Amino acid sequence: MVLVAERLAKVSYPIRDVVAAAKKIDGTPGPKMLNLSIGDPDAYDFDTPAYIKKALYTAVEKGFNGYADSAGYFELRKAVCEHNARKGFEGTPEQVLVTCGTSEATNMLYGCLLNPGDEVLVPSPCYPQYENLAYYYATTPKFYPLVEEKEFEPDFEALEKMVTPRTKMVVAINPNNPTGTVTGRNATKKFVEFAAAHGLVMISDEIYDEMVFDEKTVSAAALSKQVPIVTLNGLSKNFLAPGWRVGWMSFSNFQEGSLQAAVTRLCRLRLSAPLPMQVAAVEALRNDKEYEVEKKKMLEKLRSRRDLAFKRLNELPGVSCVKPKGAFYAFPQLHDEKGVWQDDKQFVYELLEKERVLTVFGSGFGQKPGTKHFRIVFLPTESELNEAFERIERFLKSKGF
Ligand code: PLP
Repeated sequence: MVLVAERLAKVSYPIRDVVAAAKKIDGTPGPKMLNLSIGDPDAYDFDTPAYIKKALYTAVEKGFNGYADSAGYFELRKAVCEHNARKGFEGTPEQVLVTCGTSEATNMLYGCLLNPGDEVLVPSPCYPQYENLAYYYATTPKFYPLVEEKEFEPDFEALEKMVTPRTKMVVAINPNNPTGTVTGRNATKKFVEFAAAHGLVMISDEIYDEMVFDEKTVSAAALSKQVPIVTLNGLSKNFLAPGWRVGWMSFSNFQEGSLQAAVTRLCRLRLSAPLPMQVAAVEALRNDKEYEVEKKKMLEKLRSRRDLAFKRLNELPGVSCVKPKGAFYAFPQLHDEKGVWQDDKQFVYELLEKERVLTVFGSGFGQKPGTKHFRIVFLPTESELNEAFERIERFLKSKGF
């Protein structure tokens, strides 16, 4: 037997794990599986805007089919700077690196910044990649609380107490996956001040920043000219093109020869992100007129599905849910005083088996210890969402709730 590296021992990705379990059930006779698990709008009734698709066909026709520059297609790096300037922070194309989705960017940042034994501060609850990459690099994720009773506001007092000499980096996700929380200007400013006070690098994951229903987000990089911040963004969510695998990282306030140079060097090792998609991304970012029309349509659909999900989740027996303000996730809590489920994994797998509704267990997102949650996406149509909530309600009632 081939032994795999120890660094993989604690690595897992719950979102894809539940899909594997669902596939086994989906082939068997029974009602239609309702998938509320996957953060891919294109798996539902959303599609990449036509003007961006057209730009991709044109790029391929025009012969943009080779490798790109390792750091990214230069015109895209310029377009990202223009886009960032509209969000309130400046930079040069050299400060932007294009990757195969922001996932690759995160992997590179962890790999280039952290030594074994270092610590990274991540939100609880959190998108699983930030926890699992920490394990992969033999470092420690330390979870700072987002307080559910305060609409998942970060607890800065707790955050202060978590810093040790090994802490190198703090991750903020705005809007957040899995809670849909939008961090306001004041809290974002507090993050920046916190990073400044402790000499930390801040990763600001803003991949859902156009998908907000009430208050707009503020880029962390727009609030500081001193703190080293890496802003992550890309085509996957805001532009409804996750399969294209185009993301970018923008470095603000880094000294020459620092992390930015290291990541630029690492980018060469994997040759490049896909070129035709990068060429099309230029059009995605620069054609504001088309984008505004598409965004309006997207937000209208998402907002009414958010409202529906929020209402129906809070009507379920033994369930409460904070209102999501952005992205397309909700993170309901199970109030299981009688201990019907050993843990939220059991809830998710039993719901899948009995009612064919696929969700993800909250423990996969580094939730507050001792609590039980599940995550849903409100991407399906209203009729599918209604059907899913009816099935969940029936399931809960059958369990005595
Ligand atoms: N960051 C967050 C908060 C996410 O939820 C996701 C995907 O769900 C990603 C990053 C990954 O994005 P990409 O497709 O750019 O790799």
